[in-house]
Amino acid sequence: MSQNAHREQTIRADIEFHGIGLHSGAEVSMRLVPAPAGSGIVFRRTDLDNFEIPAIGRNVAKVSYATSLMRQSVLISTTEHLLSALIGYGVDNVIVEVDNLELPILDGSALPYIDAFQTVGLKQQRRRREYIRILKEVEVRDGSKFIGVYPGSGYGIDYTIDFPQPIGCETFRGDLETGDYARLIAPARTFGFKEDEPKLRDMGLIRGASEACAIIIANQSVQNGPLRFPDEFVRHKVLDLIGDLALAGRRIQGHVVAERAGHAMHTALVQRLMRDRSAWDLAHGYDEADQPHASEIASAILPTTLPAHA
Ligand SMILES: [Zn+2]
Repeated sequence: MSQNAHREQTIRADIEFHGIGLHSGAEVSMRLVPAPAGSGIVFRRTDLDNFEIPAIGRNVAKVSYATSLMRQSVLISTTEHLLSALIGYGVDNVIVEVDNLELPILDGSALPYIDAFQTVGLKQQRRRREYIRILKEVEVRDGSKFIGVYPGSGYGIDYTIDFPQPIGCETFRGDLETGDYARLIAPARTFGFKEDEPKLRDMGLIRGASEACAIIIANQSVQNGPLRFPDEFVRHKVLDLIGDLALAGRRIQGHVVAERAGHAMHTALVQRLMRDRSAWDLAHGYDEADQPHASEIASAILPTTLPAHA
């Protein structure tokens, strides 16, 4: 499948989206444009003289309910679902033009992006894809929250969440190299608890939230079912994790374990990983004979979720 290609890829044609930002409620138009090999994922604010913000860890801004990028005080907010779709589906190089500060939330999942990628198709580029190969463990702990990354041959993810009812404890376990991101992860929608709404609105958040773009939970039950998966919540947390770890700049080759984590923990891991240059190197595809970990770990993509967030 397309995400297993070992050469860099871009989209074959422009793709346009229109919608509103989950937190700002602001209308936004977004256009994805094919980009040359080696350019990575670069956001461009068309309303601010095409100011560019590369999607790399150095540009991560404050993170709580969504992952935002900032450079020279210019912001791009709620980037995680698009970044997840790009990394999950294997799009390495693209320019993302937006005419406002927040990406559209669409249906709250990454499925609209995957549908668009499948419609226009991907183009394989000459450059071989580089992965961040994990050489030793890097961990972040904050009370009962935990995230760590370990050496491994694919892109294994093991995510556990623990939320109030009706979600409870869910675990998802899988591998992005051998699993099917488009089918297993992309459709999972974000979610929120109705009782958190006044507090979040007071904080200037979720002004664009509605039943059209999130699973809404009230009185210990889902208000706008049916769910797309019985464990859709934990799968959405995996979607977010993949998007946040995309800020490392390349796809991870290793195994990630997360427990009760969220955007802040995900991006803290990226920043700790980037700082510890002895914990990783850059490697090419997974099928090379020189991969020391090639026969270890054969997990498959796992399902999981997080707390009320973007
Ligand atoms: Zn999310």
